[in-house]
Amino acid sequence: MSEQNEVREIRINPIVPSESVLVATARSMRPKKAEELAPRDTRKHVETCPFCRGNEHKTPPVILSWPPAGDWQIRMVENLYPVLGDDREQANFNFGLQQTIDGYGRHEVIIDHHEHGIAVHEMSESHLAALFGVYQTRMRQLFESDERLKYVLIFKNFGPAAGASIPHTHSQVIAMPVVPENVEAEVRNSAMHFAKHHHCIFCALIDEVLTFEATIYDRSSGAVRRKINVGQYVVERGEKFIAIKPFASRYEWEVHILPLQHQADFLDVRGEDLADLARVMKRTMARLDAVIGGAQYNFFLHSVPHDAQRQAHAPSYHWHLEICPRTSIPTGFELGSGLFVNTINPEQAAEKLRAVEL
Ligand SMILES: [Zn+2]
Ligand SMILES: [Zn+2]
Ligand SMILES: [Zn+2]
Repeated sequence: MSEQNEVREIRINPIVPSESVLVATARSMRPKKAEELAPRDTRKHVETCPFCRGNEHKTPPVILSWPPAGDWQIRMVENLYPVLGDDREQANFNFGLQQTIDGYGRHEVIIDHHEHGIAVHEMSESHLAALFGVYQTRMRQLFESDERLKYVLIFKNFGPAAGASIPHTHSQVIAMPVVPENVEAEVRNSAMHFAKHHHCIFCALIDEVLTFEATIYDRSSGAVRRKINVGQYVVERGEKFIAIKPFASRYEWEVHILPLQHQADFLDVRGEDLADLARVMKRTMARLDAVIGGAQYNFFLHSVPHDAQRQAHAPSYHWHLEICPRTSIPTGFELGSGLFVNTINPEQAAEKLRAVEL
């Protein structure tokens, strides 16, 4: 890497400024090499796996299956070890500074595909569209089932490096009575931005990313001081959705997918648009897999919370999917400082991802 391309700067997340990233490419802060990560399970069928076809009797009770008749492609079951559950008879014990909120909620598992070790980029577009449809259906059902539920977090851990405890490809759904702090921070800050500038900050980011080039001139001489190729952050573009490499990426290969038109709630994506979302997702994941060489990742959906402020936040919040491939393990510096360290220049990472031939 040439001297010119070296970056050493703290980048401020435009949405949540307290979440900054140290981009330091010159010397790796991370001694961990990719090959030290445990490989993922790529088998198609595993006789002993409770999530494989033929072992349906080994899973907790089924919540829904898709398609409803015939061999299932996607299957949703209760979680055997839920982190949140039913109301408890005994009230919470609060003492002094030891305050708690009841762990009421739902924790469920979506078996994303009948093939055991299939990765998202290996699934067909129609299958992925159906999977996003299942996400929507369950999210809607959960919100309608209990008005105490304020947020439904849908996420996926794929591969041991991303903390997947069950090798069979699956997503998880956690419905909670509180709004998670990082969603709350995005919602709060984007509402503040809206109050000041009367536009959605996520829409503004998309506009910026779609601006191909900006030139900064010297005020006195008129000479060109710097040319910024802003379009360099686009990884994939569909008709309705866009995949962006964030300027302040916390993870080396982090990519976000957003609807091009303003939309606060994932539940508002129309059925016919899920195909485009699936296409952008599949192509983005294929790029990541090609560049990283077998991507292991977490992804999660951020959508407007269904709390009392839901309508008020609809113009300022913009739902999105954050994809965070795990190529290294956080170090003491990161845990101690709260500063994410990214050792790959996000502009160059985006360039590499775009260059993949699909
Ligand atoms: Zn399996
Ligand atoms: Zn927007
Ligand atoms: Zn987010």
